[in-house]
Amino acid sequence: MDNIFKIRLGLTNTFLLRVSDGYLLVDVGTKRRTKKLLRILDDYNITPNQIKYIVSTHAHYDHVGGLAEIKEITGAKVIAHRNAKESLEQGRNSYVGLRIKWFNPIIRKILERVHAFKPVTPDIIIDDKYFFDEYGTDLRIIHTPGHTLCSISMIDEDGNAFVGDTAIRYPFKPLGGFSVIAADFKLLVPSWKKIIEEGAKRVYIAHGKSLKIERMIRKTKRKKWKSSTHKA
Ligand SMILES: [Zn+2]
Ligand SMILES: [Zn+2]
Repeated sequence: MDNIFKIRLGLTNTFLLRVSDGYLLVDVGTKRRTKKLLRILDDYNITPNQIKYIVSTHAHYDHVGGLAEIKEITGAKVIAHRNAKESLEQGRNSYVGLRIKWFNPIIRKILERVHAFKPVTPDIIIDDKYFFDEYGTDLRIIHTPGHTLCSISMIDEDGNAFVGDTAIRYPFKPLGGFSVIAADFKLLVPSWKKIIEEGAKRVYIAHGKSLKIERMIRKTKRKKWKSSTHKA
């Protein structure tokens, strides 16, 4: 844990990890938090050129809003899933929806019009699995679709998993408590299982406190989620 720094940017958690040749950022938050992020890095005595990689967990404005600017300032390589390439290059959010389907066209409009972001070209494209050799340790990035089709998660050798919005913890129980927003709900449980199979012990999520893997294991066994995996 000594090598992991959690940086809270508004409602989004981003993470800073020490890697062999510098630092790696998991997401960068919204555009309006870019200055804050740079200020925090400065507080840690980290110069922009020490940020070597930015793992983009998925193409949503609250994770990539400041990505173009941070990439430009740091010169870091942006790592993203193949499915995120088009959205990132067009500055457009990946599709996402609620279970209440009538609401989804409204969500899509809000994401398109209000929350578009500055286009950015990823440098390293991930498919199913990517071994991050430069880290000098067993750091892996895996495709974990569900929240979006471009969602990826990163797991380190100690079982720390950085999953972006692949799991979301909501403070309000009526909202469902766990991942109520997804592009494809039936893909969520298989993706959680992938994270579990990678040996994750603690799950670092972008919205809310981290959770123990046991909680995710329990969720994969719940009827509500199990049944959602069988829907067409
Ligand atoms: Zn998201
Ligand atoms: Zn988010």
